[in-house]
Amino acid sequence: MSHTTTHRTDPTAFHCSYCGTSTYDGPRDHCPQCLHARHQDDAGLCGASMAPLAVAVHGPGEWRLVHRCTTCATLTSSPVRADDHQVALMALAVRPLAQPPFPLDLLGRI
Ligand SMILES: [Zn+2]
Ligand SMILES: [Zn+2]
Repeated sequence: MSHTTTHRTDPTAFHCSYCGTSTYDGPRDHCPQCLHARHQDDAGLCGASMAPLAVAVHGPGEWRLVHRCTTCATLTSSPVRADDHQVALMALAVRPLAQPPFPLDLLGRI
């Protein structure tokens, strides 16, 4: 009956092993601050940290976060949440534009 300790199996709890943020508004699969996730495969074997890789658009106004496991390189995606850090989301979304594989001044010649 303690409300000061949260059991590890509390389905609403999320403890970010990357930045240390703890939230209790879950269930959720990624950190609202740094957007890192934990790899929970079906067998429960991995459990490593998953780094946010990109934002994908699945429909009008519907963003999904793409994660890559830092240990086994598995790719996953999950819906963004209303409480996700908006600047962190935008930084991911514009990363391809900020780091193009070709010089941007080529666009001026089209
Ligand atoms: Zn975090
Ligand atoms: Zn993994």
